[in-house]
Amino acid sequence: MRQLDVEMMHPRVQIIKVISRIYRDGMTTTSGGNISILDDNGDIWVTPSAVDKGSLREDDIICVKKDGTIEGKHKPSSEFPFHKAIYEVRPDIKAVIHAHPPALVSFSIVREIPDTNIIPQAKEVCGKIGYAPYGLPGSQELGVSIAKQFDGSDVMAVIMENHGTVLGGADLMDAYTRFETLEFCAHTIINAKAIGEPALLSNEQIQQFEDQIPHDVARNSEVSYPSEERAIRQEIVDIVRRASDQGLMISSYGTVSVRWKDNDFLITPSHVARWDIVPDDIVQIKGGKAEEGKTPSRALALHQKIYELNPHINSIILTQPPHLMAYGTTGVKFDVRTIPESWIFLQDVPCLDFGAHFYGNDSIPNLLSESVPSVLIANDSFVVTGDKLLQTFDRLEVAEFSAKSLVMAAPLGKLVPINDEQVENLRKKFLS
Ligand code: 13P
Ligand code: ZN
Repeated sequence: MRQLDVEMMHPRVQIIKVISRIYRDGMTTTSGGNISILDDNGDIWVTPSAVDKGSLREDDIICVKKDGTIEGKHKPSSEFPFHKAIYEVRPDIKAVIHAHPPALVSFSIVREIPDTNIIPQAKEVCGKIGYAPYGLPGSQELGVSIAKQFDGSDVMAVIMENHGTVLGGADLMDAYTRFETLEFCAHTIINAKAIGEPALLSNEQIQQFEDQIPHDVARNSEVSYPSEERAIRQEIVDIVRRASDQGLMISSYGTVSVRWKDNDFLITPSHVARWDIVPDDIVQIKGGKAEEGKTPSRALALHQKIYELNPHINSIILTQPPHLMAYGTTGVKFDVRTIPESWIFLQDVPCLDFGAHFYGNDSIPNLLSESVPSVLIANDSFVVTGDKLLQTFDRLEVAEFSAKSLVMAAPLGKLVPINDEQVENLRKKFLS
């Protein structure tokens, strides 16, 4: 995955960028977790031990030289032994993240590994996941037991029994994307289990998803960028970053598009980390042809068909928020007759089978209408549409908040929906 913003950054800067994000997203505590990067010359850059992870600065990062000498104003992370042990057994791993994110810790304390076949891309993004028995934090034994999981295998992440998780990557952003996606899988499975039983995709279904993606996209080499086109690029970038910050989109998936004129539109690219996206990444689609030199989202054909068949739709977001996906993986009906806002914004949200979004299947473009602005696709994503992009984004937020309230209500009791008459009154007052 391309990480334009970071690949030229000094390891100190990369570590600060990622640890700050992990802390801000509630995926580690002030004292928990550590990150390292193996430099080309064999030095290892690592977070300091027991220094506030919420306010680390570049000059707090420690360099452990290849010969073992330590440069920096603090002690290196107490878990440095397992970071070093992973680099020693796996030359393909150049960055390591360890943390105690709540959903993965839940798995680690019931001693299970989350199944990444819950959504299509997670199996590939997360890779094989190992499991390391409990070991005293900071001990050589813990280092040995973790390294054993990585050694001679293609394991990229390990659940640490009664502790947390540790993940490797070809670079730090690769490790972060894996970390975020694995925590998302764990979170989605937990939310799903609160309301029902999550279904998993078979390996064949994941392969079918990969196989149906058209790769022969028609190309446009004479591209111009009038100012209104550039304004849309910025609008998309701002919404993608906002969705990532609000926990509504993870780095490895999710597509945003905005109609430009007629059936021409702009869409997010494929294989670019979403929270790192810049206006130049956005792909222009004109006369059905994609701007040369860029790879549009793999959901391009779906967006194209939605615009063709629905002149009232001017923006689309396709994403995987962790509470909506609890409904999208269990088949439990996502009932939005909860509070007036949810019903007014969403009306009723159908859930379609996995595959309804495949190339050549027009069920979603046909189903969407003024009164059906969004659909769930089983084990895949939530598709939401609207006129202005901010309106579509608001609908996404309302949908995920509604799903979250429903999941949180599950241990409290049964949902008592607003009744038909109350819904009719909402329709008369707000929708006619
Ligand atoms: P450090 O602050 O020493 O990196 O320790 C944090 C941690 O998570 C230990 O397992
Ligand atoms: Zn730890």
